[in-house]
Amino acid sequence: MSHKSFSTVTDPETRSELTALVQKWVEREVLPVASALEHADEYPEALVEQMKEMGLFGITVPEEYGGLGLDLLSYIAVIEELAAGWMSLSGVINTHHIAAGLLVAHGTDEQRSSLLPRMVTGEMRGCLSLSEPDAGSDTRNISCRAVRDGDEYVITGTKAWVTNGERAGLVALAARTEEGITCFMVEKDPGVAYGGIAVSKNIGKLGYRGLETVEMVYDAHRVPASAVLGGDEGVGKGLAAILSGLEVGRINIAARAVGVARAAFEASIKYAQQRHTFGQPIAAHQAIAHKLADMGTQLQAARLLTEHAARLRAETGRAEVEAGMAKLFASEAALDIATEAMRIHGGVGYTTDLPLERYFRDAPLMIIGEGTNEIQRTVIARGLLKRYAIEE
Ligand SMILES: Cc1cc2nc3c(=O)[nH]c(=O)nc-3n(C[C@H](O)[C@H](O)[C@H](O)COP(=O)(O)OP(=O)(O)OC[C@H]3O[C@@H](n4cnc5c(N)ncnc54)[C@H](O)[C@@H]3O)c2cc1C
Repeated sequence: MSHKSFSTVTDPETRSELTALVQKWVEREVLPVASALEHADEYPEALVEQMKEMGLFGITVPEEYGGLGLDLLSYIAVIEELAAGWMSLSGVINTHHIAAGLLVAHGTDEQRSSLLPRMVTGEMRGCLSLSEPDAGSDTRNISCRAVRDGDEYVITGTKAWVTNGERAGLVALAARTEEGITCFMVEKDPGVAYGGIAVSKNIGKLGYRGLETVEMVYDAHRVPASAVLGGDEGVGKGLAAILSGLEVGRINIAARAVGVARAAFEASIKYAQQRHTFGQPIAAHQAIAHKLADMGTQLQAARLLTEHAARLRAETGRAEVEAGMAKLFASEAALDIATEAMRIHGGVGYTTDLPLERYFRDAPLMIIGEGTNEIQRTVIARGLLKRYAIEE
């Protein structure tokens, strides 16, 4: 299997230009409509079209395939801006980038040149399908099977929690083959049915609404043998490739958490100066001021951990422990900050007039998605124990 990595380093000026462009777009186009679309659970078609025009479907894809060819620090800066406006928008491109990253790192030349140019424009949307109804944390327990039949594989099984699954044109699918878990790049048309693939359920969610998370059934669906990520060499090596790709997913979750936490913090620090009780702004009450201090500190620490993980992954190709730390800390911080923001806003924080209730519903996803925080702690501890192993 040939290996390429996100080793490019973007100059800070280019990075800030893209971040500023996205920030302005979020202010102008996203903030006015986010809560209404989210409450209606409506897919943000017009916003996604504009994201395509800005090149956001190919941020980290090398320029030779038509992508922006930027580094992970640029990617997380964009994710933070999107999530500060509406977290679901960061979900529209997260598993897409994981699928594209798998192709860049492990795909054959033919796979890269045939799929990536369509992905970077957003014409072909990517998604990741690892989880199953009985295998979420326990990824080694997946039961979806792919059986070789001449020049094809026949895929049978049920996959759960496929974000973007219905609208995707490419599924990075984990399936069990004789040699172990293999990653297939399954091409399909967007929609509820294609060949032997059917969307069997659209999962209702507490937050993270407006984009679909679905269950998909594969009923003897046939794909060419050339759909194996990395070709014949990639057979049986899919789980390792996907788990490495999930590091980028975890860094994405951390950046989203920073975005949601920032929005909640900024709303709170403004409100605390505007709202008066007992003859003074509530920020003058020490109980509220200390909350703001803790929130600001958590937010800063979360951002620094996230940037550190992104930099390390870009420079070395792996950041298992650091991506886990960033995801763990930033997601818990976002949950705390979203809750504290609601306390600071009092009764109005609980209404649908303000986006505080949306941050409060969106934040818990980050403690679960891309590996729960219980699993992150296990991954972090295992990595640290290896790093600090003593000789006996
Ligand atoms: C909105 C949403 C979108 C998602 N999108 C995708 C997607 O696009 N693609 C995809 O493949 N998956 C996706 N997922 C799936 C997600 O990755 C899993 O839900 C997650 O990994 C947890 O798996 P589970 O739900 O099966 O929980 P379980 O694995 O059943 O865990 C239940 C509880 O037990 C704990 N637990 C389990 N094992 C251990 C252990 N060894 N030690 C300590 N505690 C443990 C967990 O931390 C958790 O608290 C999505 C999930 C959600 C909610």
